[in-house]
Amino acid sequence: MKNGLYWFEHDLRISDNPALTQLARSVDSLVCVYCFSVADIRETYFTHEPLGPHRYRFLHEAIAELRQSLAQYHVELVVLYGEPVDVISKFITDNDITHVAKHYHTGYRENERLTLLKAKHTDVKFSEANAYTLYNLADLPMSLAELPDVFTPFRKKVEKQSTPRKPISAPSYLPATLDDKKAVYQTLDAANMAALPSVSPVFENSIAKKLVGGEKAAQAQMAYYTFTSNALAQYKVTRNGLDGWDFSSKLSAWLATGCISPRQVLAEITRYEQEVVANDSTYWLFFELLWREFFQWHALKVGYELYVYAGVQQQAPFNKHMVKVHQQWVNGTTPYPIINACMNQLRETGFMSNRGRQLVASCYVHELGQDWRYGAAYFQSMLIDYDPASNYGNWQYLAGVGCDPRGHRQFNLQKQADTYDPKGEFIAQWT
Ligand SMILES: Cc1cc2nc3c(=O)[nH]c(=O)nc-3n(C[C@H](O)[C@H](O)[C@H](O)COP(=O)(O)OP(=O)(O)OC[C@H]3O[C@@H](n4cnc5c(N)ncnc54)[C@H](O)[C@@H]3O)c2cc1C
Repeated sequence: MKNGLYWFEHDLRISDNPALTQLARSVDSLVCVYCFSVADIRETYFTHEPLGPHRYRFLHEAIAELRQSLAQYHVELVVLYGEPVDVISKFITDNDITHVAKHYHTGYRENERLTLLKAKHTDVKFSEANAYTLYNLADLPMSLAELPDVFTPFRKKVEKQSTPRKPISAPSYLPATLDDKKAVYQTLDAANMAALPSVSPVFENSIAKKLVGGEKAAQAQMAYYTFTSNALAQYKVTRNGLDGWDFSSKLSAWLATGCISPRQVLAEITRYEQEVVANDSTYWLFFELLWREFFQWHALKVGYELYVYAGVQQQAPFNKHMVKVHQQWVNGTTPYPIINACMNQLRETGFMSNRGRQLVASCYVHELGQDWRYGAAYFQSMLIDYDPASNYGNWQYLAGVGCDPRGHRQFNLQKQADTYDPKGEFIAQWT
């Protein structure tokens, strides 16, 4: 009897999930798990818990929907709670699991965990497949060691020489969970979900209210941003907005948690280009997905260096962590109204625009003279769309220790506020 276990992590969907589809073909029974790391909720990293309330809420919604979708295939999804390697390892042993599959990920910690789990279960067959990126590593026109240290040469080579992968459909069949195990799994799942902390974020009148976890909401937003609203056709002009739903795709939270894959997003952009219009804006959304792509492969290449103070440039800044100043930034009480507004929005909702992120990160490093790792850790805790490669890659970039040929990106905060919030409406809303 081949008993399969699928470990969901940053791929909370059934469609375009090649690892799940492949496992389904090789086993007689299937059970799925998602594991909340207890350390991410209860312990702190650079003074903040890695999994804060907003992303927790989103994950909870996505998992609830995934459970319903899997139930239609007669497959159980069990939520585990603890140290992922330990609890999944115990689950494998307790349930005579013979095959384990997981989606591929470029994160340092994700790969470390998988390696540890494999070492504990040498008799189990492990498999992985990728849809977290547009291309597979083997599709890139360079080896990982040769990956350029900056974005533009990467983009130019990839655009010319590689073809993005196409998404695959949801599987028509998954092997059902064993009947005699179902009751045990359901009890375990209910107990674990009850142990999780409750959250009541302030969502009314905020953008984040529309960020609902799950594959269905992700597909609905993709359809809305393209064929329904046609907002995509103006993306290049609007994308630097500070507030509002339509100025950018808002897909990042669904991409980071895997409720949608970048391959699915690109397939829809392409369909929109064929059926409605292809212009600079439709290309620019692909361009931004290439930024995401670059940071993913960069993260895999540099590993733990993504988290060190001196960054990939190995040049430690002279900044220092000052608790009081950090708290002012977190609480939106700095001398800069535009920064305070962005930080208040983030704290209350888990959302901040790309422009806002650039401004608050630049301010943190340059005006406030802080150690960038504490700012990045706060983002990690608060952002609904937290993704290790994108967050730490962008923070290093703005701190002048990452993959930026120019370095020292300091914004004129008053000028930025005048340009992006000329009537002061955003500041008024979030002050
Ligand atoms: C300091 C800092 C930290 C950040 N942390 C994260 C993070 O943890 N998770 C995250 O997904 N993005 C992060 N970003 C990138 C960017 O701010 C968000 O991806 C974007 O705001 C999401 O909104 P959107 O989906 O409407 O983006 P759109 O403008 O519609 O772009 C489409 C997609 O392209 C990708 N993308 C766009 N810009 C970037 C970028 N600069 N880097 C990487 N990918 C990009 C995202 O997946 C995004 O969903 C960070 C940026 C900065 C400056």
